[in-house]
Amino acid sequence: MTLAKSFFIGGAVLLSAGCASSRSAAGSEPAHGQLSSLSVASRPGAEFCEHRVPRETCTRCNPHLEEKFKAAKDWCGEHAVPESQCYLCHPDLSFEPLPALAEGADLRKLSEAGEDVPELGSHAVRGKVTVFDFYADWCPPCRQVDAHMYGLLNGRTDVAYRKLNVVSWDTPLAKRYLGGVPNLPFVVVYGKDGREVARLMGLDLDALDKAIAEGGSR
Ligand SMILES: [Zn+2]
Ligand SMILES: [Zn+2]
Repeated sequence: MTLAKSFFIGGAVLLSAGCASSRSAAGSEPAHGQLSSLSVASRPGAEFCEHRVPRETCTRCNPHLEEKFKAAKDWCGEHAVPESQCYLCHPDLSFEPLPALAEGADLRKLSEAGEDVPELGSHAVRGKVTVFDFYADWCPPCRQVDAHMYGLLNGRTDVAYRKLNVVSWDTPLAKRYLGGVPNLPFVVVYGKDGREVARLMGLDLDALDKAIAEGGSR
């Protein structure tokens, strides 16, 4: 996932974002900013504008919002839109709503805002494959994991999806689990026997499917 890597060059650089190609050419005045969650709509089902952004957060539809994004350093100087709305720099940006979840789909949030979860094992559901998803609202590939998992949860009842919102690299949750993780998403899969099957760093849906299949056979 080369895009994700360009987001997070050096885990210490908080939400550092931008096109890798222009990063080196930019000199001391960076042409790119960082991704923030400012572009995420305040509620699900928000309306989209012609720029494929939630209308309420789009700076081209609402120029007065530019200040707010610039203050948060969420600004792509090269394309004059927020970094978090720049499809030229981040082609896999997505604000599309996730599929509706079927009744009985086993999804829970273990960490709402980066608060610590000291260990995962006790949250693994016996008799189900448990997928722990460490994500952030500003992470486009994380939404692809969501879309994939939502589809899966709608088809089967033996999978539990547990979401952990790391928010940033500085939260207690991130400090405990993301030390060696170069980019989000970070997914940990436990088998039906309650034992860990795999840890996946970055977006790899094939590996995720494989881990879930393995976890289901235990
Ligand atoms: Zn717009
Ligand atoms: Zn851009």
